[in-house]
Amino acid sequence: MIFNLTRSDAEITQKTIERLESKSRYLDQKIKRIYNVDLNLPVYIKEIPRQIWGYMLYNNKGPEAIYLNSNVLKDNPDYVINHVLAHEFAHAVERKIYKRKNRSHGKEWKEICMTISDGTCDTYVNDQIVVKEKISSFFNN
Ligand SMILES: [Zn+2]
Repeated sequence: MIFNLTRSDAEITQKTIERLESKSRYLDQKIKRIYNVDLNLPVYIKEIPRQIWGYMLYNNKGPEAIYLNSNVLKDNPDYVINHVLAHEFAHAVERKIYKRKNRSHGKEWKEICMTISDGTCDTYVNDQIVVKEKISSFFNN
């Protein structure tokens, strides 16, 4: 379930919310099928510092919620939907499977991320893709 916590509704389009919703449903089903892990985590869209694209929130029982940066989502919806979401889901799966403190971007995480993202997983933000997306949305608008 996607929750938009930003103050202005116009910031994030309904279309983007729907795309996020369908991508997270897709990832949930794939994760259930491959790893037999039930995530169904809430995904919050929130204003957070620009350099953080997204993060996982954990509690003592495990993964609790995924947070996405509203400004980044507004400017680069494709990148967030196709890369950042799978990146964060992979952190949640790793924690559920290995039940230990997250080693952030170790080999277990990377393998999960590659599997669920169909090979498009990025450890950190891929500037080239983002720049391309910015340029294309500039020319398309
Ligand atoms: Zn990460």
